[in-house]
Amino acid sequence: MNLQLPKEAVVIGTKAHPPDTKAFKLRLRNDNERLELRSGQFNMVGLPGFGEAPFTFSSPPQADGSFEHTIRAVGRLSKRLMRVEAGETLHVRGPFGTAWPLEQVKGRDLLVVAGGVGMIPLRPFLLEVFQKREEYGKVVVLFGARTPGELIYREEFDTWRRQPNTFLHLTVDDVPPGETWDGHTGVVTGLFSQMGIEPDNAAVLTCGPEIMMRFVARGLLLRRFPANRIYVSLERRMKCGTGHCGHCQLGPKFVCKDGPVFRYEELAGFPDTLL
Ligand code: NAD
Repeated sequence: MNLQLPKEAVVIGTKAHPPDTKAFKLRLRNDNERLELRSGQFNMVGLPGFGEAPFTFSSPPQADGSFEHTIRAVGRLSKRLMRVEAGETLHVRGPFGTAWPLEQVKGRDLLVVAGGVGMIPLRPFLLEVFQKREEYGKVVVLFGARTPGELIYREEFDTWRRQPNTFLHLTVDDVPPGETWDGHTGVVTGLFSQMGIEPDNAAVLTCGPEIMMRFVARGLLLRRFPANRIYVSLERRMKCGTGHCGHCQLGPKFVCKDGPVFRYEELAGFPDTLL
C-alpha cells in the first residue's frame, strides 16, 4: 500500500461544534477498502488546491468502516474545510502514528487530562474504554477550555458521567459576557486537588497545548505518578506521515511515526519541546 497516495473519502455527515469547529463523518469512496485505524492515530486530510494537514481521528474504529475527524478552523485549509458539506469529497492518507495504549492500561485507573481541542484525540480513547468499561478501573476526566463555549462535546458529558465509576471535572479560564458558568474557573491543573485518584495503579493520558502538558506531567510527577505511565499526544508539522521528510523531527524521534502518542519518559529532556 502506498501511503503517499491519497484516497478519496466521501463526507457522509457533518456536525457543527460552534463557534469554530466542525466534525466530519467520512467513508472511503472505494467500498473494497477501509482504514484500519486505532484511537490516537491521525490521517493527513487534504482538499485539492488547499493542501493537506494532520488531523487525529475523533471516533474509535467503526464496524461500518466510517471514521470521523473534528477540525477547528485555524489555517487556510481548515478554514476552507468549514464550508465542506455532506456529499463532497476529501482526500485522506493514513492512518499514521502510534495509538493510545488501550491494552497496556487495562486494569488501571485512568486519569485523562484534556485542554481545549486536545479533547478531540482523547474522545475515541474514552469511547473505547466505555465500550469495555469493566476492563478498566476508575476513570477521571479533567477537561479545561478557555470559555464554556469551547468545551467541545458538551452534549456527550451526561452520557460520559453515567458510565460506572466515571467522573468528569470541568474548568474554564474565563467566562465572557453573555455566557453562563457556575463551575470551576482556572487552568486544568487547578482540578488536580479534586481528582481523587491515587498514582499506584493509575495511567495518565493527556492532550492539549504543550505548555499545559508540561504542567500536567510535572504536577503529576510531584504527586508520584510514574513517568512511564504518563502518555502525551504531541502535535508537530507532519508532512509525509512516514518519517521521511523530517518536518516533525524531535531529537531522534519523528512525531509522525514514533508518535503522536509518546510515553512522557521518552520525551523528557529533548530540545524543541516544552515538556
Ligand atoms: P487552549 O490554549 O484553549 O488551552 C486549553 C486549556 O489548556 C486551557 O483552558 C487550560 O485549562 C489548559 N492550559 C493552557 N495553558 C496551561 C498551563 N500553562 N497550565 C495548565 N493548563 C493550561 O487550547 P487550544 O487552543 O484548544 O489548543 C489545544 C492544543 O491541543 C493545541 O495546542 C494542539 O496542538 C493540541 N492538539 C493536539 C492534538 C494531537 O493529536 N496531538 C489534537 C488536537 C489538538
